[in-house]
Amino acid sequence: MKQTASFGDPARYVTHLHVAEDCLDLPYTREIIARANLPMTMVGERDVPAIEGDYPANLTRGKHHLWLCRNRGVFFKPCPGTREYRCCNYQVLNIGMNCPMDCVYCILQAYLNNPWLSFFVNIEDLFAELDQALAAEPNRFFRIGTGEFTDSLALDNLTLLSPKLVEYMARQPNAVLELKSKSVNIENLEGLDHRGRTLVAWSLNSPPIMAREEIRTATLDERLAAAACCAEWGYKLAFHFDPIILHEGWEEGYRFTIDRLFAAVPAEAIAWISMGALRYLPSLKQIAADRFPHSRFFYQEFVDGLDGKRRYFRSQRVAMYRFILERLRKHAHPRTCIYFCMENDTIWREVFGFAPEEQGGLPAMLDRSVGWFGGLGRQG
Ligand code: SF4
Repeated sequence: MKQTASFGDPARYVTHLHVAEDCLDLPYTREIIARANLPMTMVGERDVPAIEGDYPANLTRGKHHLWLCRNRGVFFKPCPGTREYRCCNYQVLNIGMNCPMDCVYCILQAYLNNPWLSFFVNIEDLFAELDQALAAEPNRFFRIGTGEFTDSLALDNLTLLSPKLVEYMARQPNAVLELKSKSVNIENLEGLDHRGRTLVAWSLNSPPIMAREEIRTATLDERLAAAACCAEWGYKLAFHFDPIILHEGWEEGYRFTIDRLFAAVPAEAIAWISMGALRYLPSLKQIAADRFPHSRFFYQEFVDGLDGKRRYFRSQRVAMYRFILERLRKHAHPRTCIYFCMENDTIWREVFGFAPEEQGGLPAMLDRSVGWFGGLGRQG
């Protein structure tokens, strides 16, 4: 099946640095400036980078610009799940906003209102906040991810944040970190004493979707080769089939990707695999139509979900999930947790034959897959 040519490191798309004046003297900021070696503009404390044009039309241009600044809000908070759909109790570690890659379906286009990329350089505050949160609940197990408002590794060759996070997590008795990416910037993960506390994860899709709708991302083969490498370095892996998109030949496409995945990566290294059919805020459709006029998948039939997002009809979702689950189960290790991101109990029952509560709840199912058995410490 045809795959696109590789773009390489998406950080190459960044051509200009903006540095907040109050961050210039931080050693970490200095380090990044020296490593990036890019034209640089200082930004006053109350200012933001100046990018020509209006949002979201200036988003393509804005992705060339990286703003090194301070996070004045919180770094660490629960993933914004909703009551209506089963959520997995994930915790988001907010390392920055926006991403140099450009997926047509990216929810950040509708969620953010600034075109530039931000990266937070006050990482002492980040670690202090983590220290406090993890110590406050020693009997709770935290699954933490940095890939909610940005890609976890896309800028890592500029920021070199991943070794700091991995080494920090290695010392934590009650948490794991998931680095989720569509890039293959894994070089900084080699040789680290991660102690099984970091998982490396990739989003996967059917090859035509990856080729047409995921701009500047790594190819399927690149992602799988990087995953195999991380498994060799002892990292646990995770994969996310999200968003699953209805398209001509979808069965063949997803089958191809799944078979390729298990041919490339040892099944026992995979802690979890999620499935999530396309869902989007209504405002995203127009943004994507303007920015990517060639793209067609938003013109299918959708229904309004209880969380305000549009989804495929239930029967369509169930058909796609059943097909993908059956293929995954052909290869997956029995300990790998296969689950839905944001689906209701009816869909769980129709596809898996049970609701998460019958297995102790989705958070517990995921915790078990990385060897945590509710308050008893890490085993396995
Ligand atoms: S890689 Fe993720 S964060 Fe980046 S554009 Fe694609 S969906 Fe958005």
